[in-house]
Amino acid sequence: VIIAQDVHKWYGNNFHVLRGVSLTVRRGEVVVIMGPSGSGKSTFIRTFNALEEFQEGSIVIDGITLSHDLKNIEEIRREVGMVFQQFNLFPHLTILQNVTLAPIWVRRWPKAKAEEVAMQLLERVGILEQAKKYPGQLSGGQQQRVAIARALAMQPKIMLFDEPTSALDPEMVREVLDAMRTLASEGMTMVCVTHEVGFAREVADRVVLMSDGLLVEEGTPEEFFNNPQEERTKRFLSQIL
Ligand code: ATP
Ligand code: MG
Repeated sequence: VIIAQDVHKWYGNNFHVLRGVSLTVRRGEVVVIMGPSGSGKSTFIRTFNALEEFQEGSIVIDGITLSHDLKNIEEIRREVGMVFQQFNLFPHLTILQNVTLAPIWVRRWPKAKAEEVAMQLLERVGILEQAKKYPGQLSGGQQQRVAIARALAMQPKIMLFDEPTSALDPEMVREVLDAMRTLASEGMTMVCVTHEVGFAREVADRVVLMSDGLLVEEGTPEEFFNNPQEERTKRFLSQIL
C-alpha cells in the first residue's frame, strides 16, 4: 500500500516539478500513470523508493513513512522493486549473478538459496536457458525480463515500472508486457509509467494522467480512455490513440 499525500518537489530553487501530488495505491492494485514528456512521472515514482527526495508532503509505504534516514531508505528499497527504461544490468556479471547479487549481499541469503530462487524467477519470466550468459548476449526484451527477475528476487511487496518497454524494439514489447501481466495476475501491487494503452486497458485497475507536476484525472481504464472528463486528458489521448 502506497499513500502519497500532497507531495511537492523542487529541482534546485525554482523548478517546482511536483506541485502537490496525492495518490493511493491499494494492495494488489495496478495503477498506470500516463502523461506528456517532462510532466514529472519518473520523478514522482522515483520518490516511492527514495531515488528522489521531496520537500513537502508525505509518502507512507506499507506503514513505513519515507524519511531521509539511511536505515529507512534501506527498509523501503527492500519493499519496493523498480524496473527502468534502461535495463541497468551489470554487464560483467552473468544473468544468474545479476539476479542473485542483491539477495546475497543485502538479504544475506546463502548462495545456493539465492540461486534456487533466481532460477525459479528466470523460469517465470521465460529465460531460464539464458542464466549462464552475459547481458550483452541477450536481446533487449530478454534483458528487460532479467531486470524484472532481479527486482523480484528481493521479494518486494510493490513493483515500480518506469516505461519498461519504451527502449525496446516493437517485437520485444509483448514478451515484457506478458511478464508484467503475469505479475499483476498474481496479485503484485504495481505502479507503471507506460504509454502502452492495450496493457493499461487490460491490466490497470486505475489510470491517472499527470501533467505539469499534477495528477489531473484518474479513473478506471474504461472511464479514462472512453469518457475522459478533463480537457487536458482529451488532448493527451488525441495524441496517443
Ligand atoms: P518522460 O516522459 O520524458 O520520461 P517524465 O514525465 O518522466 O518525462 P521527469 O523525468 O520526471 O518527467 O522530469 C520532469 C521535469 O523535471 C522535466 O522538465 C525534466 O527536465 C526535469 N528534471 C528531471 N530530472 C532533473 C534533475 N535531476 N535536475 C533538474 N531537472 C530535472
Ligand atoms: Mg520519465
